[in-house]
Amino acid sequence: MQIWLGGIIIVWLFVQVMLLFVYRHMLAAYWREPVLCCPILVFESDDWGAGPLEQAHALDALRQILKGHRDQSGHYPVMTLGVILSIADTETMRAEKESAYSRIALDLARFEPVLAALRAGINEGVFTPQLHGMEHYWPPAVMAAAKTDAQVSVWLQTNGLAHSEELPPRLQSRWIDAASLPSQPLPEAEIYAAVVEEVKVYMQIFGAKPVIAVPTTFIWNNIVERAWAAHGVSCVITPGTRYESRDGQGRPKGDGRLILNGERGQGDVMYLVRDKYFEPKLGHRAEKGLDALSLQTACGRPTLLETHRFNFLGDPAQSTAALAELNRLLVEARAHYSKLRFLSTQDIAEAIANQDTSLIITAPRARVPAWLTRISRVSRFWKLARLTGLVLPLWMLGKWTA
Ligand SMILES: [Zn+2]
Repeated sequence: MQIWLGGIIIVWLFVQVMLLFVYRHMLAAYWREPVLCCPILVFESDDWGAGPLEQAHALDALRQILKGHRDQSGHYPVMTLGVILSIADTETMRAEKESAYSRIALDLARFEPVLAALRAGINEGVFTPQLHGMEHYWPPAVMAAAKTDAQVSVWLQTNGLAHSEELPPRLQSRWIDAASLPSQPLPEAEIYAAVVEEVKVYMQIFGAKPVIAVPTTFIWNNIVERAWAAHGVSCVITPGTRYESRDGQGRPKGDGRLILNGERGQGDVMYLVRDKYFEPKLGHRAEKGLDALSLQTACGRPTLLETHRFNFLGDPAQSTAALAELNRLLVEARAHYSKLRFLSTQDIAEAIANQDTSLIITAPRARVPAWLTRISRVSRFWKLARLTGLVLPLWMLGKWTA
């Protein structure tokens, strides 16, 4: 009887060890990922810049909301603005009936109200600019697509300043040629030249090189990363993976690799993960942002909430409701978390790079609870951990370190 029992226990332990072995890479990656010591909230808002002038009013309204809140250190909430530096000069192209692409850059006097609102928020510490792209598309691909796609042709003849959001999704990816599907990669020399150009214009407008880049539609590759890194970018925002192309149906396609905060890419760029969303115009309420903050905090991760400019433009009633929801989210977040910190994404990247112990937990025992929460979210692994009883020693580990 005792031999039987001993045998069962040995088999049981063996199965658990095998499970740990099979998932060792995932478990190690989640262990290496930095653990933040407190709740951190950042709003990451893309697509601002060269585009409709109503952005100026929206940015002013956002500034006022953000300035109504402070964390315990007296810092305002930060909204990073993924900036688009130029847009098609549709009026010139239409008037001249030329087949060549023409652009209007953000530093043109015409955009002064938008730039003034942007700069006011930067000076107050509620906005920080990030590079989203010279355009939110690859101009030659848009020009090529316009020959066969009526929607694109009409977009290129927009009366006034165009919205890049109105292009077909496949064409909103800057770093591929998606004139037709599946997309084609861009020549390396053209990527490098485009990066040189966008960094130059970014510097002209903001007086410094971009530190953080946000790939449009999260499609980019090693060449883009190397080019950005060579021109001062040290951090790339990712959705937790990388897409490099679009398939025959226009869907983003990647190798499925999991990217975690603090991992490094080409040219030693640091990746940060933005995979939580607060898009009021899509029906997201403050609670969605609060749920994300709760989960990310338990996982020892910063909460980067994606919220595009479209939430705050267009229909005034919807924009007002979006601002009210943003305000409610901030009120509730401050009420729930006394240690809540408002930081910029750059602050977070620098804290990770420098192992800043005022934000990063380095003691192994104190890191365990966040690690356990992270691995318990890996559905397949956790199901097997329950089935094999591995959850029991993990639960004991959690109790010991709590
Ligand atoms: Zn975008």
